Amino acid sequence: MNPSKHPIVIALDGTSASGKSTTAKLVAKALSAIYVDTGAMYRTLAWHCLQKGVDIHDEKAVGALCRKWKTTLECVDNQVRLLVDGYYPEQEIRTATTSAAVPAVAAVPKVRDWMKKRQRECLQFGDLVMEGRDIGTNVFPETDFKFYLDASLDERAKRRAAEGVEENLAARDQRDSQRASAPLMIALGAMVINNSGLTREATSQLIIDEVHRRKGAGGR
Ligand code: C5P
Repeated sequence: MNPSKHPIVIALDGTSASGKSTTAKLVAKALSAIYVDTGAMYRTLAWHCLQKGVDIHDEKAVGALCRKWKTTLECVDNQVRLLVDGYYPEQEIRTATTSAAVPAVAAVPKVRDWMKKRQRECLQFGDLVMEGRDIGTNVFPETDFKFYLDASLDERAKRRAAEGVEENLAARDQRDSQRASAPLMIALGAMVINNSGLTREATSQLIIDEVHRRKGAGGR
């Protein structure tokens, strides 16, 4: 890896199950960038709280656990991972129990400050394709490469069901959009893509083309 002096950040925000992960991975591969799944970071903290028996609705307790947390960022196969005492809980963070616990943890302002610092530290690895809910609005508001993905609720529910996961997406979106701290919203200057009728390849191609266009126009 040879990180450039001025790495660029492609911010990919959007609703749950809107295809952000698949799209972000394809875009990162095509542009030789590092993929960062910030949802996985929040999921990891939520899982850690559940493991430690910390009440996810107790803001103070969640904030304190986060502050004392011994974590490391590592980059493996061009993807960033957040470790818990050296362990990467890849499967555990995808369960319905963890999914349901994340929005409460992600709404704590101290947690969001902490996450923002870790997410900005990812620049050490090089150009980034970072997906989440507040990347273009809050974590990297200075980037010129902002995208917002959405799809119909019906389509998104089908995608989750195909992954074998049953969950109330509408409720999670509502909590993510209505929280006071860095809520999910469309960043100024973001290209909005509704990919209900699009393949993952077509969605990522739209983004790749727009990144090239914005770079050509002096974007950074
Ligand atoms: O993207 P994913 O579904 O894995 O995100 C899980 C949860 O993490 C979201 O529902 C949201 O509560 C939280 N999240 C967030 N900000 C981000 C990424 C995820 O609040 N940048």
